[in-house]
Amino acid sequence: MENVNPCQVAIFIAALSRHGYVPTMQKKPFAELGLSPDILKAIEKMGFEEASPIQSAAIPVLLTGADVVGQSQTGSGKTAAFAIPAIEKIDASLRAPQVLILCPTRELAVQVAEEVAKLATFKRGVRELPIYGGASYDRQIRGLKDGAQIIIGTPGRVIDHLDRGTLRLDSLKMIILDEADRMLDMGFRDDIESVLEQAPLGRQTVLFSATMPRGIQDLIRKHTRNPENVRIESQTLTMPAIDQVYYEVDRRSKLEALSRIIDVQNVKCAIIFCATKMMCDQLTEHLIARGYVADKLHGDVTQAMRERVMKRFRDRKVEFLVATDVAARGLDVEDIEVVFNYDLPHDGEDYVHRIGRTGRAGRSGRAITFVAGREIRKLENMIHLTKGRIRREKVPSVEEVEEKRTNQTFELLRETLESGEFIKRDSLIDRLLDQGYSATDIASALLHLLGSDATRSPVVEPEPIREPAPRRDSERPARFERGERSERGEDPRRGRPARDISDVSDEAGMTRLVFTAGRLSEVRPADIVGTVLGLSGIPREAIGAIHIEPKHTLVDIADEHVSAVTKALAGIRFKGRKLAVFVPDAK
Ligand code: ADP
Ligand code: MG
Repeated sequence: MENVNPCQVAIFIAALSRHGYVPTMQKKPFAELGLSPDILKAIEKMGFEEASPIQSAAIPVLLTGADVVGQSQTGSGKTAAFAIPAIEKIDASLRAPQVLILCPTRELAVQVAEEVAKLATFKRGVRELPIYGGASYDRQIRGLKDGAQIIIGTPGRVIDHLDRGTLRLDSLKMIILDEADRMLDMGFRDDIESVLEQAPLGRQTVLFSATMPRGIQDLIRKHTRNPENVRIESQTLTMPAIDQVYYEVDRRSKLEALSRIIDVQNVKCAIIFCATKMMCDQLTEHLIARGYVADKLHGDVTQAMRERVMKRFRDRKVEFLVATDVAARGLDVEDIEVVFNYDLPHDGEDYVHRIGRTGRAGRSGRAITFVAGREIRKLENMIHLTKGRIRREKVPSVEEVEEKRTNQTFELLRETLESGEFIKRDSLIDRLLDQGYSATDIASALLHLLGSDATRSPVVEPEPIREPAPRRDSERPARFERGERSERGEDPRRGRPARDISDVSDEAGMTRLVFTAGRLSEVRPADIVGTVLGLSGIPREAIGAIHIEPKHTLVDIADEHVSAVTKALAGIRFKGRKLAVFVPDAK
């Protein structure tokens, strides 16, 4: 680089960036982006060490007031990229909407509002307000009246408020479309155009999108002025940290392969992607039948249910979320251990979106992909796009799974013996010894009785998988300690006292019912789920946490389905006894 004038280099780079080229992985310290001390303090508190490439590139441009079209992958930190300049722009003394952020879904609106709130912690007098469908108008109207300046909303509800006159855009300085491609996919085009048309002409327009299809380009042409393109090529905060592995499995063996991998690798939190809604339904049922705590998320799952499912997943009450691409896009869930591509995604873009769900914000993550036959070629093309590497692994054998279980049992026994935290049963054991049994035989018999209860993993059946999904329940009681334990949120193996379980569900919209059968009648979550679904016909998502106590079981049911369940189950025989089901205080 001798004889090159640094000024010329700067001009050259600026010219390139005007054409959408940004040198990859150019990260800057936040302190160099021209931000106020209040924002820097909030960023510090949030633990962000440096600005991600999209933030480094977009924030300075947004602060100049220019329109921006931003494109970067999921997980690259787009929210802060637009939220930080938005907050900087607010005039706290003016109590009227100044920034409007449109998001495709209610979950995203809530997530973005949370991030805005964190970033604005030290900015006095700045208020944010999420507005979305399905929630009460009153609260939103009150928030608007109170003078919220940053409104984060879904297009439909924003239009409603505009029509009612409860939301006014006279003072709007900035409008941001987050995940614009997805909003178009969801049919919000007219709503978005209508909002844009009602916003003052002088405002700044910002559009973020993972992809730039025709519809988006039309929007940009019609509604922005000389936008700066900020595009970060396949570089995210996270991509390098994702360990990508694939398995060659025949279609019919996928479920078996999945269970073995989960068991051997002791996976506790994963999203499993399927190609269709039907596959999601089937796989969820299969997983539940095998003793895993799984739930699903796809286009046919109602908004209210989706939120419940997401909350349960975030709270770790659900271990495995089975989802389609559309349903899972843009969701920000922390600490997903593994993303499974149970079915191959359609294209590289979807592949990137999917695996971007793991290893967020620089934490390491794993992506596991199943390929059958010639799909391997398709996968190779997708990997190419991520600039990543993928390696092949072999599905664990039944022996490996067994060995894992044996090791777990061994460890468990060793820990228990070492800790001394168990009740001595000397007299019982003496009686057995007196009868002439050896100590090793007694211990073996006990282990046999414990069976799969001794370890976390369900027993793996080596036989091939049969389709379609069986209605799970009665035939497989032996393997459900998995569900029970995670739902209880602790490990009963360790002999710790159980935490007090309340009569009232801790999830909004759920009612806790009492079933008069419990552990002593060998009730397992699978029995409860199977019986409730089988007899009442309510959807799987309507069943929440299940707490099995010695003589009764507490089952959370979505409010709207409570009477269906109590009616359907009234007086049935369950585990050989007559069952009563009731709401505790209504008894
Ligand atoms: P995107 O909208 O591009 O998919 P998000 O804005 O949801 O990405 O950010 C993904 C995750 O990264 C979030 O958990 C966010 O808090 C975190 N994050 C954002 N910026 C940074 C940063 N500069 N350093 C560390 N983590 C960050
Ligand atoms: Mg986002």
